[in-house]
Parts: sequence; structure tokens; C-alpha cells
Amino acid sequence: MQNSSYVILSYKVKHNYDITEFLNSYRLLLQKTADIIWDNIEWIEKRQKNYYMVREGEKRIRKCYYVKRLIPMIPKSREFKRNLRNTLLEKWSYASHYVDSAIKVAYSIINSWRKNYLKGRRKRSKPIVKRKFVRVKETLYVYRGSKIRITVKPRKLYLEFDLSKTWFKRRVNGCDLGELILKENELIITFKKNSQKGSCERIGWDLNKCSVDGFSPKCGWIKIDLRHLYHIHRVHEISRKKAQSKASKKHTLKSIVSNHGKREKNRAKDFVHKLTTQLAKIFPKVEHGFEDLEKRGMYNRRKKHNRDVAKQNWKMIIQYMSYKSKVKLVNPENTSSTCPMCGDRMLKLRKGQVVKCKKCGLVLDRQLCGAINIYLKMCGFPQSPSTFYRLVSRPLTRLMKKRKGALMRTLGGVTTNGGKDDDMLPMNPRGELSLMNPKAYIGLPIPM
Ligand SMILES: [Zn+2]
Repeated sequence: MQNSSYVILSYKVKHNYDITEFLNSYRLLLQKTADIIWDNIEWIEKRQKNYYMVREGEKRIRKCYYVKRLIPMIPKSREFKRNLRNTLLEKWSYASHYVDSAIKVAYSIINSWRKNYLKGRRKRSKPIVKRKFVRVKETLYVYRGSKIRITVKPRKLYLEFDLSKTWFKRRVNGCDLGELILKENELIITFKKNSQKGSCERIGWDLNKCSVDGFSPKCGWIKIDLRHLYHIHRVHEISRKKAQSKASKKHTLKSIVSNHGKREKNRAKDFVHKLTTQLAKIFPKVEHGFEDLEKRGMYNRRKKHNRDVAKQNWKMIIQYMSYKSKVKLVNPENTSSTCPMCGDRMLKLRKGQVVKCKKCGLVLDRQLCGAINIYLKMCGFPQSPSTFYRLVSRPLTRLMKKRKGALMRTLGGVTTNGGKDDDMLPMNPRGELSLMNPKAYIGLPIPM
């Protein structure tokens, strides 16, 4: 959903119409369409270069070989499609627009087969349509008031659905109706919801092992504690090690080890889901900026287990955030080591928690520095003293006066709750994990 300006919502409605015959004939129509396209595929022989790796002492050598492959060329000409439509219409007794829908669906089935075939995931065998469904195009239904009327046979058979009593009625108020999918006892309805375009508010987020730091001129510095998430991984890592050493002696215990991984993942997922939902609620209509993690690897060569675990969490946070809100990815190059005021390099002070600019002497918390830089990159502003004054120091001082003695004490970036105990994990006296509501983790007095 990244960078798109609308959201697709889909809902199910149950129905009691007997449409088995219709569904069956549509399935046969779809299969026939796929068959005709399949029979007209042109197979072109192509030489393809493959390779495998061989180990010779210390070195790994790439050995190449050639294979001949048959590449399918799917017929796509306008003439072919017209003829296809005409042949299919001959024996079709329902509304003729269903033929167009079947052609569209059959093409997408064949195209996805081709993609998988080229990757070696499918054999050279014709796709078979098994599921019973009908894709109802926009031209085949009328949506008025809160009723949908689907044409099955023009002037003979219509299906009506009343949405006025459904639970999602309010949610889809004012949305455009998209394609419908008719099934044996339910109808799947998709709605297009336009999200606001134009200049919206932005927050830049810097992801760290134990916290997420956000910055925007309106909210200032937002710090979210992630130690709990990290704690989940640590706890499971320890118990997994124990289980592994046991399992190495006894085979029957192997499933326990794999269960540990599942539970760990589920707990982390649950936490991230709650966190992102909370964030999307607190900051509605905000574009969230994150570092592009795919590119982050290029600039950061250090490798550690902790980093990998943290990276997985970061990916999850960005992914879930993009389901619930607008997300923008920025280039991660030097985000935490560039001075947001003059663009020079920042030096690490106090075990790297605080950074200081070589040139202008600005002192900032390292994570806040990262968040500010991500925010600036999101907006496309270069680092300059005037921008910094306008977007960072003036709003922050204003916020500071507002929140007397709250999170930010000085622009120097010393927080009341962050910083010092980065590597220490919170100890739970009962020795068990209890997932906290991330609500409690957002240490930010929300500005009015
Ligand atoms: Zn500077």
C-alpha cells in the first residue's frame, strides 16, 4: 500500500440464493477461456545460462552450463481477444459482460502460471480452475441507496443485497464500490477509500534496538520503548538453547524446539501489531518515514545476532505500519552521523549515546539526530541552519515550555527515560513474560 492514495476495504455478506448452476457455468467458461489461451501459446526455444558453485580449497568457483528451455509466449493481440470473446459468447446464456470478466481472470491465471513457470516453480501443465466464484465487474451491478443489484441474466434474473443492516455500513460511507466476488453462500464486496492527498503531517522514525525514536515539528521527540520486544527474543533465545541441548540427546523433543520459534514469532507479532495500531490511532493522517532497510545493509557492515533480530522487528514494524498508515521509505545513508544543522559529520560522545557536530558544535541524542535527519529527508530539505531553526529548535523550545519538565529537558537531548541503560533488560520478578500494552510504551505527552 506504499505511496498509494487509496485504501481497499473488503467485507463479506452471507446470502441464501441458489446460484450453483450459475457458478458452475462460470467455472466452465473460465476453464474454456484458459484452455483456448493455453492452446494458442507459442513455445519458443531459448538457450539459458545456469550456474552452480564449486568449492576448491578456500575459493568458491562459479561453473556455468547451458540448458534449452521452452518459453511460453501468451497470445495478446486484439484480434485474438476479439475472436476469443466471440467464440465464448456463442454458448453463453447469462449476461455477456461475464465473458469479459472470465477473459480477464483467465489471463491473470495464465500470467501468474507463466511467472512461476519461468522461475521453475510450476511444470508445463495447463492450469485448472477448481474454485467456484464469479468476478462481477462494475458494469454488472447497480449500487443505489444501500442496495446492490447484480445482473445475472438481463431482464430475467437479478440478485439483490441489502447493506443497510450490515455492521460495516458506517465504515464504508462515501466509499466507491469496486469489484464484487460472488461465491456459493457469500458475496465479497470491495470498497475503495480515498485517503487525503496533498501536504499531510510527517513524522520521521529512527529504529533502534531498544527504542523507536520519532520526530516531527508538531510533536517533537517521540520515544517508544522497545525493550520489551527485545526481551521477548532474549527469553526465547535462552529457552531455545536449553531445549536444543536436550533435543540433541533425545529425538522426540525436536518439535519443542520448533514450537519455541513459533511462539517467539507470535509474541513479537502481537506486540508489533498492538504498537502499530496504537501509533496509527494516535497519529491519524500522518505520513510515517522510515529508513529503507534493504539499503541500510549497504552502508552498515557490522553483523551481530542482536542486529539481525532487531532488523526483523524493524521490518515487521514498517510492514505493519504500512497496512495501517501511509509510509515513506528514505535512503538510510548517514542518518545518524550527519549534523542536521550544517550537514557535517557527528562525533560520538558518552559511549555513542550523544553525538556532537565537529563543525558547529551541536550536541544531540544520537537517536533524535537520526529521527530529525529522516524527517528532513522525507520532506526533501537539505541540512541548513535556517531549516533547522524553523523545523527543529523553535518547535522544540516551544514544546518544552508547554510540557513543563516533561520528556525533553534541554535541546541537548537528555531524556528522563532514555539513554543510560541501553543494554539492560527490565527484570520481571515473576520470571515470566507479560506483554505490555504498547500504549504505556509511548512516553509522550500528546500535544493538543
Ligand atoms: Zn553541525
